Amino acid sequence: MPNQMTKEIMSALRDHFVARQHELLALTCALVETESPSGDKDGSSAVVSLLASAAGSIGAVNSVERITSEDFGEHVRIRAFAGENEAAPIVILGHTDTVHPRGAVKERPWRAEGNRIYGPGIFDMKANLALALEALRACEATEACPQSPVTILLTCDEESGSPSGRPLIEAEAKNARAVLVLEPSAAGGRVKTARKGTGMFTIKVHGRAAHAGLEPEKGVSAVLELARQTIRLHNLNNPATGTTVMVTVAHGGTHSNVVPDEAEAEIDVRFSSAVEAGRIENAIVNLKPFDERAQLTISGGINRPPLERTALVASLYERARELASLLDFELGEASVGGASDGNFVGALGVPVLDGLGIEGDGAHAAHEHIIVDNIARQGAVLSGLIATL
Ligand SMILES: [Zn+2]
Repeated sequence: MPNQMTKEIMSALRDHFVARQHELLALTCALVETESPSGDKDGSSAVVSLLASAAGSIGAVNSVERITSEDFGEHVRIRAFAGENEAAPIVILGHTDTVHPRGAVKERPWRAEGNRIYGPGIFDMKANLALALEALRACEATEACPQSPVTILLTCDEESGSPSGRPLIEAEAKNARAVLVLEPSAAGGRVKTARKGTGMFTIKVHGRAAHAGLEPEKGVSAVLELARQTIRLHNLNNPATGTTVMVTVAHGGTHSNVVPDEAEAEIDVRFSSAVEAGRIENAIVNLKPFDERAQLTISGGINRPPLERTALVASLYERARELASLLDFELGEASVGGASDGNFVGALGVPVLDGLGIEGDGAHAAHEHIIVDNIARQGAVLSGLIATL
């Protein structure tokens, strides 16, 4: 460890988060109430303004750069603890967009209930944006001064597959000492040491319309063809290797008395290894129609590579676990099906630890919430990592 961590310093970090919990939650509340569904440029900019102004009050922050994304709003890159330090930076990765449409906060407003706080996008991941800024403050306020510069990169299009965020993430990650990803933790606050990769495909079927009652034999049903392709696609599932293929959205046809000449479906694909990714992609792009009179058009492809639990990932997890044990809690790990921007980083061979966000549940769902009692210890682990990597 370049910076030896002690029980005293970890306790001081935790105490810092306890003392600042009110401010942390106030910023979180402002972020939640400023809705930023992925692709909503005004919402994105408004959230970035809140973050930029919060970052501006932290002494360790050297610069705040707002980076325009044409279709999604603004990314923000915050550099801290830079000074003369030429060591490779620690990169903290997060996203400011959510899956919740505008109006969700009106329907399900910020609500504290016992140990939980509910709010659209709070768990994935607005509370974690506030946590990251507070971690800088915690390091500054205690004896946990980082050995390396810290870069916080918050992108605005993660929930849309990161089309404009990805090159920024890869550019920062490439030179990083380690990348810490603020995605929601798994049940019980566990970090994520493996994630499946994802692919998204669309299949369009072109058939031929005809009167469904008078001369159905002249038609070619695109819906029937799509149904048969759906079964074929589901046969690609392989639970033993963790591969899943699912037709998630399907529609077709025009009127109840017409043989449907068009049908379309979206396909969600997940895999744990690059080999499986290749197998599935190959099978999908080479689909042939059952009825030769029908035509298939396939688009899409592999979106995120799998995040595999390499030795680098495992050693970073081990470090986090040691820090947690100084606060007498056992930090678990999980392997999950959902992908994140951590997948891009893992594929670069950079040490990455994902799922470092605050404990909670219900990401993307109506019951999305965080658990308040464990914010301080999770903040301490994040700060401890920043201080010792
Ligand atoms: Zn997320």
